[in-house]
Amino acid sequence: MRADDTRNPQISKSDHSATMDHAQILIVEVWVPLPFRTPLSYLFDPALAPDGAAPRRGARVVVSVNNRRLVGIVDRTSQATAQNDCSRLRPVETVLDTIPLLAEQTLDLMLWTARYYCSAAGELLQLALPPALRTSSRLQQSREWLTVRYWRLGRAPTEEASGQLQGRKQRELLTALQTAPAHQIEHGHLRSLGFGKAQFTALETAGLIEEVIMDELAMEAAKGEEEPQAASDGPPAGHTLNNEQKATVEAIVSSDGKFAAFLLDGLTGSGKTEVYLAALDRLIAEGRQALILVPEISLTPQLTARFEKRFPGLVCVYHSGLTDKQRLLAWNDIRLKKKPVVVGTRSAIFLSFTQLALVVVDEEHDSSFKQQDNCRFNARDLAVVRASNQSCPVVLGSATPSLESLQNAESGRYQLLRLRHRTAAFARPQIELVNIRSRKLTGGLSDPAARAILDTLQARRQVLVFLNRRGYAPALFCQSCGWIAGCSRCDSRMTLHRHDASLRCHHCDLRLRLPTNCPECTSGSLVPLGSGTEHAEEALQALVGDDIPVIRVDRDTIGSTSALHDKLELVKAGEPCVLLGTQMLAKGHDFPDLTLAVILDADGALFSGDLRASERAMQLLTQVCGRVGRGEHAGRVLVQTRLPSHPLIAQLLAQDYRQFALNELELRRQLAMPPYSSMAVIRAEAASEAHLQQGLALLASQLKTVMTQQHLGDGVTVHGPFPAVLARKKNRHHGLLWLIASKRATLRSLITGLMSQPASPDRPRSRALQLPGRTGRHQPFSWSLDIDPYETL
Ligand code: ADP
Ligand code: ZN
Ligand code: ZN
Repeated sequence: MRADDTRNPQISKSDHSATMDHAQILIVEVWVPLPFRTPLSYLFDPALAPDGAAPRRGARVVVSVNNRRLVGIVDRTSQATAQNDCSRLRPVETVLDTIPLLAEQTLDLMLWTARYYCSAAGELLQLALPPALRTSSRLQQSREWLTVRYWRLGRAPTEEASGQLQGRKQRELLTALQTAPAHQIEHGHLRSLGFGKAQFTALETAGLIEEVIMDELAMEAAKGEEEPQAASDGPPAGHTLNNEQKATVEAIVSSDGKFAAFLLDGLTGSGKTEVYLAALDRLIAEGRQALILVPEISLTPQLTARFEKRFPGLVCVYHSGLTDKQRLLAWNDIRLKKKPVVVGTRSAIFLSFTQLALVVVDEEHDSSFKQQDNCRFNARDLAVVRASNQSCPVVLGSATPSLESLQNAESGRYQLLRLRHRTAAFARPQIELVNIRSRKLTGGLSDPAARAILDTLQARRQVLVFLNRRGYAPALFCQSCGWIAGCSRCDSRMTLHRHDASLRCHHCDLRLRLPTNCPECTSGSLVPLGSGTEHAEEALQALVGDDIPVIRVDRDTIGSTSALHDKLELVKAGEPCVLLGTQMLAKGHDFPDLTLAVILDADGALFSGDLRASERAMQLLTQVCGRVGRGEHAGRVLVQTRLPSHPLIAQLLAQDYRQFALNELELRRQLAMPPYSSMAVIRAEAASEAHLQQGLALLASQLKTVMTQQHLGDGVTVHGPFPAVLARKKNRHHGLLWLIASKRATLRSLITGLMSQPASPDRPRSRALQLPGRTGRHQPFSWSLDIDPYETL
């Protein structure tokens, strides 16, 4: 950074050489939201600041980088010494926060995360802030949103003033404030309780109450002891726990105040959520908070509702589906410890908690905990790191635990807690296969499945039909010449969508009008091949008649959270209906009247070269089976397959996920694959195949160099280059390398070594600060690193 910018005359070189007082000048290290590996240094002269206070660690500052004004986060300040060449540094332009917005623990966790996943800390840090606080252009707005009006008791309310109160509502308002913590209540909350201007004015005139306006951004979280959290009348109690549940809760609670990781392995419906609730009940108190990470809140409103019911007024929900204002307010409530129970999606792991009592990761196997772009962190793993840093227990719960967590439990790193029985109301569903190899299907539906659906509806129960493929048909085929509609930009087929007569590429979103004639041979004999949810919906509606609703849930029908909510409400109402959808339906829903599930195409999940293909397929199918029979009536699952003797189908039938997982783990151990080794994937993309091959070859040879230099020997293997699943996507060519090491430290050395290699033989890495290998659309060749990848292809 050069200091010859005329906009900042106070730090111009001549000025400084005259006035430089090293004892006064501070050097502030700031993380800016750009792909740098280190913070940037700026100057701060307390003498020139209005209040003279140096920015604290975790506070936001405005700085400029290449003439762009950015909001950065302060990492450190230190006294400038004679060794610092201050003349080259620009000043901090504005200090936005006198109170740091990020707790020390949060900042440390994020810096650790950036290092572990080899990504840019400055960019990652943005995730710790709600969008409204990330840019300087929104300063005004965010301040307004965070200005809160309270009413509190007047300084010296006299007996006679209160005796003279006229109305019942006036007395109620006074009582409410007298019994409230700190004798104050938010204006908005009072209004929602039915108090209005009439009461406020009357009491204010009598000197009984006064209004307080607070800038909450400038507030620091109260210390735990000063702010009692538990509701005074006590939350409603849950179910009486069964013995297994009790033992589980005891194990968790006995680790209060210290780190312990638990894997809670329990069938769907075995009462895991009830265990979380009971543990929370015992652990949250005295300004402590608990974090419950869930895969996707919008898909499971019922789960959130259960927390809210049990802890009324104490639950805060944080996810990206909120508006910017809602997100800011929720974020702030959490920072100020106003809400002890926080339910959130993966980025909630970076919220500013100071005193955590418990971390829960529900459905811990779910892939949505792994971020798939930029910093590819896994919130499930960070939950364990965070719990360890903050000395509290962490519970990873699932009916279908990830192999990583199971292995951690097997090796004793995590304590295994099992709930082996479904609660009284639940029975195991009965699973049957329907071999569809030589059967005629209508919209993907076989006759036995159709009959079972009609029988179920006849008995006035509900049906779930699962098909993990949206659109009308996965391909369009010409019967005369064999042409199949393919995407011009990707190596993929186009999906037929009938409702708007389009062909769409599900990989790059290219949309074309549905052709009436074959573009190759001009014949009019184009036919759809296979079935997606749109086709299944048509067939199901024809099957069940117009009086029974067929409710389709996939990305094409669910534009918004509220649309999904409305559809699910319809199912909850309990009338006979058919719920049809993709994997959105496999996640944690609880519908007591669902008694039949039909899996239209179990085989779709079985074929993939991905490391986790079987694991994922088994989890998905098991979760779908777990949706039925959650009420009084036993459930039944029909699995349509062309491969009835496939081992995975046999294991699904046996309903023994644990046995499946142990077998699969043994296989991974024999192949020395994760979780028995550490893995990183290098994903590369290039403008042409030649660029791709050239770039990957260079990377491979650099890796070899590092391995030789550092004597990494047998400790690490480089596999590849391989083509990606879609070798061509959006006209870019994709390929990858696998790095597999027996020890995490070896992998780390290899990666660190690679990072210090030149970007290309003729072009040394230009800026030492810049992280290498970020995927860039426009570069001829670029690459990125995925540490502990979830998807490996
Ligand atoms: P999971 O989270 O494992 O799917 P839940 O906690 O949702 O299981 O429990 C499944 C159902 O059983 C819920 O309707 C819940 O209210 C009920 N339930 C849980 N524990 C008990 C219990 N000890 N006694 C009676 N009902 C229970
Ligand atoms: Zn043709
Ligand atoms: Zn495409």
